[in-house]
Amino acid sequence: MGAQQVRERFAELYGAEPEGVWAAPGRVNLIGEHTDYNDGFVMPFALPHRATAAVSRRTDGVLRLHSADIEGGVVELRLDELAPQSDQNWTAYPAGVVWALREAGHSVTGADIHLSSTVPTGAGLSSSASVEVVIALALGDLYDLGLQRWQLARLCQRAENVYVGAPTGIMDQTASACCEAGHALFLDTRDLSQQQIPFDLAAEGLRLLVVDTQVKHAHSGGEYGKRRAGCEKGAALLGVDALRDIPYGELDAALARLGDEEEVVRLVRHIVTEDQRVERVVELLRSGETRAIGPVLTEGHTSLRDDFRISCPELDLVVDTALANGALGARMTGGGFGGSAIVLAEATDVDTLTKAVEEAFAAAGFTAPRVFEAVPSAGARRLV
Ligand code: ADP
Ligand code: MG
Repeated sequence: MGAQQVRERFAELYGAEPEGVWAAPGRVNLIGEHTDYNDGFVMPFALPHRATAAVSRRTDGVLRLHSADIEGGVVELRLDELAPQSDQNWTAYPAGVVWALREAGHSVTGADIHLSSTVPTGAGLSSSASVEVVIALALGDLYDLGLQRWQLARLCQRAENVYVGAPTGIMDQTASACCEAGHALFLDTRDLSQQQIPFDLAAEGLRLLVVDTQVKHAHSGGEYGKRRAGCEKGAALLGVDALRDIPYGELDAALARLGDEEEVVRLVRHIVTEDQRVERVVELLRSGETRAIGPVLTEGHTSLRDDFRISCPELDLVVDTALANGALGARMTGGGFGGSAIVLAEATDVDTLTKAVEEAFAAAGFTAPRVFEAVPSAGARRLV
């Protein structure tokens, strides 16, 4: 959504020009799935799709919220009444950010907010983080809070974990806050150290497609919590703080120690091999072997499907069809149970491949997927 449009709508709603307009993108994760709550590695990049927010300060302890993408008018909340898990609506995301800022001791005395987003919701592309980050960045700027990007991300994660009540890791918010155009972000979720890895597919005649299966995942649903608890159990049984602490070279020995804990064995194997896949992708991209990351992405899908067990028939169909039609690699991305898959392909194969996936979905009786090209884009920033 253009800054101008968001600005004009703000003025209509609130009767004055906003103090500024900010944007924060959705993200797609190239590799490193479910590693972020195991203190491991992830590698997201920002999409051109983004949430845009026009924001002004208030001094009277009132928060007014409006989204162009949600039916209904302006929602008015009192800052001193904001309480974790008191709100089941979309307003919990921006209100949670205000709550988290105030809880961290920052003086925020109110705001008028209008937002509009081009990030599809519930597609595994992190529309929630883009909403949180755009609000945190706007309020951080307006109230001159001097927050670093990684601090914004932490506050947004706290908003989502505690205020909204969704137990998500730190990746989505960090990606939205910190990504750079033409790069993927190699992030160590233990200490939030990060490296921008050049990821310019077009220059090499490659494309990365996102295939949104239109199957909506339910993020705070029990399955995510179960995987998370299973990983924690694995770490406890192995006597480490987090599964990140099991070196790849010691995986077999670790699995042997888990004995007949079948479920935990599968979860641990996914996390430890996935961290290693992230490191392999980083190495390959650094040495200019972009095509060679394809098979690593596909290995990641197999691990998510068979060991972590969070794929679904639609995601598997995208991957299988893409690979059968010349893709270099493909995998589900995001939390699982729906959402999107990514496909790495030669630019010249994109049309045939897209058609094949669409036909396969039609033949299976699935809802038509939405296919778009993902170009690594800029992170959150002020527009006006
Ligand atoms: P995702 O994978 O897209 O992040 P989530 O379930 O985590 O899925 O977050 C989706 C929720 O975020 C929506 O149900 C809504 O509450 C909120 N949200 C996302 N985008 C918007 C928007 N443009 N306006 C209002 N709320 C939004
Ligand atoms: Mg989300």
